Amino acid sequence: MGFCGRAYDAGRRIRLALVLACALAVFGSPGQPASAAGPEATASVTGIGVQGDARRTRVSVHLDRAVRFAIYTLADPFRIVVDLDAARFEDGARAGLVARGLIEASRCGTAGGNGRIVLATRGPVAVDAAHVFRVPGEKGARLDVDLIETSASGYKVVAPAGSAALLDGTGAPPARTGAAPKVRPVVVIDPGHGGADPGALNGDVAEKTVVLAVARLAKAEIEAAGEIEVVLTRAEDESLSLARRVEMSRASQARLFVSIHADSLAGSPFAQSVRGATIYTLSEKASSEEARLLAEKENAADTLVGREARVDDDDPQIRGILADLVRRETARASLDLRNRLLPHLRASIGLSKDPARAAGFRVLRQAEVPAVLVELGYMSNRQDAQMLVSPDWQRKIAAAIAAAVADYFKAQPGAAASVHRRASSR
Ligand SMILES: [Zn+2]
Repeated sequence: MGFCGRAYDAGRRIRLALVLACALAVFGSPGQPASAAGPEATASVTGIGVQGDARRTRVSVHLDRAVRFAIYTLADPFRIVVDLDAARFEDGARAGLVARGLIEASRCGTAGGNGRIVLATRGPVAVDAAHVFRVPGEKGARLDVDLIETSASGYKVVAPAGSAALLDGTGAPPARTGAAPKVRPVVVIDPGHGGADPGALNGDVAEKTVVLAVARLAKAEIEAAGEIEVVLTRAEDESLSLARRVEMSRASQARLFVSIHADSLAGSPFAQSVRGATIYTLSEKASSEEARLLAEKENAADTLVGREARVDDDDPQIRGILADLVRRETARASLDLRNRLLPHLRASIGLSKDPARAAGFRVLRQAEVPAVLVELGYMSNRQDAQMLVSPDWQRKIAAAIAAAVADYFKAQPGAAASVHRRASSR
């Protein structure tokens, strides 16, 4: 059994998508049903998501077409095995298969041409519902497996044997025996830099340390209300490519993405006069020369992570596709989040002279997730640098971010839901 790895290369993925699009143009119409490829064709798992909490957890398996599946349960330790007929895992598909809710650990791979996902659970669980369905208006299909907490005596072992499958279906949803898990929207907070890349420096204070502290506080503040789940792209001091950050956003089906940085003008004659927070949204045309230079600086972070991890978006054809992918709705929602952050940041920590800017940040190039990049202040400014390391100030900014995120979801639950549907339907 070869387990699928975590390796992911967004550039290669985009090229692969291009090749597939060309193949379709030659061999068939893109509108034909995915299952028309024949029973011997291999299905691809394109992504896996885990949502819910320690009482009810949903595992969503995104496929390029509907497949037959079977689910088994094993004890000592408690495990759920999901077998997918003639399926393989795309690179990066496993990224979203995280330990969350009832899931303690997991692995996936192929065995005898079939795809297998093994979920180790925190205790005895029952499969409340499982079905494959097509998402309206989208190609491909999705398998949702809903797990609920149960007692040791209520745990039913169904060993892997064809006739003994607990559930075995191809499409018709079985009668549901309970309410769907209450799924909280996910917000991804992305502390910039990390590991070998310290970001901006002022004496012995590194940007990577300041932004991680703020991100952790923001997560605690946002989750305290119990309505929203926060995924941090990194919770430790570790290296992380920009492509990986974007992939984590997609895999966790994020509804918002907030990247946190702290700028520096070290060496500039303006180092002591320029201060305050700035919020950036994505634009391939920078709002100013300063914004363009900053995006260039932040995008260079990947040179410290490794050449192979870089998003290959310098190819003009891929740049064009990326521009197309920045859909109007996502861009509009990004501006909405920015506009909600501005007053909260103004009231708590103060803004720079030109606080709403735009530039071509790689980490903001996300087709489906509204995304902003916040520069908390200037490491090069004495006053800002003092505030940046103050726990009081860090709590203030965390509270400001939490308040803006709460405002966003209160004001447009419909928009958030539609972004989520898109993100969860591939
Ligand atoms: Zn930075």
